[in-house]
This record gives sequence, structure tokens and C-alpha cells, in this order.
Amino acid sequence: MPEGHTIRRLARDHKRLFGGAPVAASSPQGRFAAGAALLDGQTLTRTDAHGKHLFHGFGDAGRTPARWLHVHLGLYGKFQLGEVPEPAPVGQVRLRLVGAGHYADLRGPIACEVLTPADKAALHARLGADPLRSDADPDAVWQRISRSRTTIGQLLMDQAVIAGVGNVYRAEVLFRHGLDPHRPGRDLDRAQWDAVWTDLVGLLRAGVRAGRIVTTRPEDRDRRSGTPSREDATYVYRRAGMPCRVCGTPVRTEPMATRNLYWCPTCQL
Ligand SMILES: [Zn+2]
Repeated sequence: MPEGHTIRRLARDHKRLFGGAPVAASSPQGRFAAGAALLDGQTLTRTDAHGKHLFHGFGDAGRTPARWLHVHLGLYGKFQLGEVPEPAPVGQVRLRLVGAGHYADLRGPIACEVLTPADKAALHARLGADPLRSDADPDAVWQRISRSRTTIGQLLMDQAVIAGVGNVYRAEVLFRHGLDPHRPGRDLDRAQWDAVWTDLVGLLRAGVRAGRIVTTRPEDRDRRSGTPSREDATYVYRRAGMPCRVCGTPVRTEPMATRNLYWCPTCQL
């Protein structure tokens, strides 16, 4: 599933490619026909991202958007971008946006709907703090974590607690801080949480810039110079059975919060 950095990049790219001019919206597949009709011909004035939720604001230039397109890609959803003239739609295209120079086809999202500003505010209120948002309140996250018997590995995946962290960032940030994913949230101290939060802000921002997740320090990679390969990009994620980059203990895996968790039983206590 795309994590927060991917959604933030989509918000930025779509604003650049489609913003400021009327956009043609349609639903070649038909499942979003009524919603697309509401947006068709409107001007994209803003985009926004909160965790794994993407928002496109439509309305008059210079005004607060009157309508918001809300998209959640889920596990399999994808935007495909291209230049106009757009080809005939292929496959199940839920939404096609066509701007002055580019088009975007959305396939397979778990949410694609039109929201009022009030609906959007209600959705934000249900989501936890997003390390990529300037309005994020890490203290609110700490209040939840520090009172919870739930494991930190589950809490980091709970989008109502913290938004935008997915399976890769969860495994990697816990490794980077030597934290056993099975520890209850209330077992962490404030300094540990603050360090995790600060690290997540840095890791996610780096993810937005690079368009990929890289969590390893150069000294811990097999190849220490150059752009890290896919294999070299993570400490424990998808490295089950392989030696830990730091101590050599085989990396372990087990399901947690519906996804495979990865951790080093020696480094993470
Ligand atoms: Zn280790």
C-alpha cells in the first residue's frame, strides 16, 4: 500500500499538472459517473494530503474549494499519468481527469467520492497526526500511545493514531530506534516517542523528495556509495531470515495488524 510520502507527492504533482484551469472529469468505468459529473469543467484550485488520503479541491479561483474529490488508493489503487491527447481508456478506469497538457487515470481505489468542506473536516478529525503536515500535533499522538496497552507495532499502523505510516515505515522506524514492535505503547517514554516522531518527519520528507523509501544509513548498506539499491534501502522490511545489517541475527517476521511485521530480535528490545 502506498504510504504517506506517495500521497503527498501525488498532491504536489497533480496541483502542478492540473491546477488553475478547468479539468474534464469522467468515469469511463461508470462507477463514479455521478461524482465525475459534479467535478467536470470545474477548476482544480487546491490539493491536500492527510496520511493515505488524497484530496483535490474544486471551485472558483481564489476561493475556498466548494467541493473536494477524496481518493484513498488502498492496496491496489493507482493513478496513471500521461500527456494529452489521452488514449481510449484501458481497463477499469474509475476516474479520468484531463487538463491542459496531461491526463490522469485512477484505477482500483478503495475510496473515490466527492465531499463537502464539512465532510472533509470530519474526515481530518478522524485521522491521527500526519508527520508530513505542518499542522500535525505529535503531542496528541503521544497522549494516545502513552495510555495504550496495544503494541507500538499496531499503534503505528492505526491511521486514527498516526496517519501516513504504513508497513515499511513502521518496521524501519522501530528498528532505527531499537524498539521491539511488541512493546505496549504505554511502555515507551516520552523521549523515545519524540525521537521516533522526529525521525518519521525526516524519513517521510526524504521519501517525498526521492519518491521512494530509503531508511538505511550509508555505513549499513552492502554498497556504501551511490544510490542505494532496493535491497539496500531497508534494515528489516522484507528481509526475513536474512542477517540483520547491524548485528547479523536473522530478521524475523510475523503478521501484526494484518500485515507482515519485520524486526531484529537482538537489536530491538
Ligand atoms: Zn540486529
